[in-house]
Amino acid sequence: MRIILVGAPGAGKGTQAESIKSKYPIAHISTGDILRANVKAGTELGKNAKGYMDAGKLVPDEVIIAMVESRLQEPDCKEGFLLDGFPRTTPQAEALDLLLEKLGISLDAVVELNVDDEVVVQRLTTRRGCKFCGEIYNTLFKPTKVDGVCDKCGGEVIQRDDDKESVIRNRLSVFHEQTAPLIAYYSKKGLLLTVDATGGKDAVLKLLEQRSCSCK
Ligand code: AMP
Repeated sequence: MRIILVGAPGAGKGTQAESIKSKYPIAHISTGDILRANVKAGTELGKNAKGYMDAGKLVPDEVIIAMVESRLQEPDCKEGFLLDGFPRTTPQAEALDLLLEKLGISLDAVVELNVDDEVVVQRLTTRRGCKFCGEIYNTLFKPTKVDGVCDKCGGEVIQRDDDKESVIRNRLSVFHEQTAPLIAYYSKKGLLLTVDATGGKDAVLKLLEQRSCSCK
């Protein structure tokens, strides 16, 4: 199965990806996670990307395209992959088309997670994550037992720099301007499925199972 998850920041792409992965043994490729790992490790890529990420802007297309191009050729992608957070611009989508053609493979579906902007702002300003193990918390719906301390590993629980409200509003306008046009792009190709992002953590998995598409 080869699918793309498209949705505003905070639509729940990561959560849906975890649920899909529990059923299908495919590689989960989150460009945001790859970039954050590079920032943490202090690589050249991370140093270049950090400024864009902290400001809620997109990292330049050529950087992201090269990163995904090499990732998609790793062995764990043979069984399929789930792209989370890529493509985010029309040039990225066009580059992906060319790459897939070169690799002789095609997409099974592009799933749009539909969510209201104000829901996103509430979800993200209250989101927290463990610096050490990555466990996700929410100050309203899933608080840590001890303030700022991870229940799972005792690590420090913090707010992502790009989860501050001004940055979130910026990320949302970037989404509407640059990423939303991909909905029409993939709809024209007959690949688009739309899911209500408030429909629970297994909403996308259920839809894929219902279709029991060529998604094997
Ligand atoms: P995410 O975790 O997917 O919300 O991504 C966090 C940040 O990483 C974004 O706000 C961008 O700065 C950057 N980023 C992730 N994926 C992409 C992409 N496909 N194109 C450009 N920038 C990206």
